[in-house]
Amino acid sequence: MAAALYRAMLVHSLDRHSVEWYADGALLVERGRILAYGDYATISQDFPGVPTMDWRDSIIIPGLVDIHAHVAQLSGVGSDRADLLDWLEQVIYPLERCCADDDVAASIADAFFQRALAAGTTTIAAFAPPFESATERCFEVADELGIRAVMGMTLMDMNAPAYLVADSNKLIAATERLATRWHNHRRLHYCITPRFAGSCSFTLLRRCGELASATGLPIQTHLAESRAELELIANLFPESSDYTDVYQRAGLLTDKTILAHCIHLSTTELERLSTASPAIAHCPASNTYLQSGIMPLVEYLDRWNLRVGLGTDIGAGYHASILDEARTAREHAKLRRMSQQTLRVPSHAEAFYLATLGGAIALSLGDEVGNFLPGKAADFVRIRRAPYRTITTTDDALAYVLYAASDSIYATMIEGIPVWQKP
Ligand SMILES: [Zn+2]
Repeated sequence: MAAALYRAMLVHSLDRHSVEWYADGALLVERGRILAYGDYATISQDFPGVPTMDWRDSIIIPGLVDIHAHVAQLSGVGSDRADLLDWLEQVIYPLERCCADDDVAASIADAFFQRALAAGTTTIAAFAPPFESATERCFEVADELGIRAVMGMTLMDMNAPAYLVADSNKLIAATERLATRWHNHRRLHYCITPRFAGSCSFTLLRRCGELASATGLPIQTHLAESRAELELIANLFPESSDYTDVYQRAGLLTDKTILAHCIHLSTTELERLSTASPAIAHCPASNTYLQSGIMPLVEYLDRWNLRVGLGTDIGAGYHASILDEARTAREHAKLRRMSQQTLRVPSHAEAFYLATLGGAIALSLGDEVGNFLPGKAADFVRIRRAPYRTITTTDDALAYVLYAASDSIYATMIEGIPVWQKP
């Protein structure tokens, strides 16, 4: 593919606090990679003669990164229950059973990934259904649509209906086959996916840890989402000092592990997380939906220096937009501040970072995507600007993107190719 120059307002993160904004900017893309970015005047002079796409009515942001969602749960959106454990048993487990039919799994996967692309998500970490052939179909669909996905078959060997569990030997063998086929296949990555300690025996968890250590594959699971869950884990693993200890003893706390929620953690658990450096998937919409709690985001960033990204957590989360999650993360921090004035609210720059570069770093893909540094994949989103909106500063641009633009996504591009465009 020849080079193309996209002329538009540009905004992207360099780190958690630094954002670059170009009112009349340009993004130069060649063969799916970013060659240069900056002021239009400079870039067009440095690279004369490149065909220019005039997108001056739009803002370009890096592709959004969703670091936690469940493919099979899309059809259960909106069916909440009193808490996480009731919801799993009454709503989610019966629904995941439907994905034993490969065609059902494929059609749900198609809707799931299309929804993500329409929301500007170019990279997503997802739990595939708890069946090997359905997981195959999910990878095939993701591959066809061109989305960047980190995904794995959801593993359970106990404490769930018989139709969803299997013997740990079989689950590990299936994981190995799927990983051989899909890990690093084009834009796809395989992720070892034990659901959570509540539905995995210690044998299964330990074997997942051993496989991760032998292969270097990433791991995704859930940690400390609800208080009832903490009680369940304490009863199931009395030999462990706490929930985090279960994963640590199983070899699952690595710098390639994604832990969803992490709401109810003790200081000693946070100390261990801070050392082991897993990524935390913050899913604020899901957390209030299931009345699980509000994750102390600012403490995790400021005191514990944890790597945090954002997740929609479909289907406890009810929408596909990471911009909405970024906004909700700020709003939840405000709710906490109302009762504890010493707390601060994350800046627009931090919320935007979590939705883009922070998420990419959480998935160990920070060298590949997340911002516009030359050499990275040209994954970006075109957002149409409302004509009545005046944007004259970096913060204006961020405020608009975070609070007023999730319904103005016009095109989603991956490696310079449109993978979704507004009909
Ligand atoms: Zn989840």
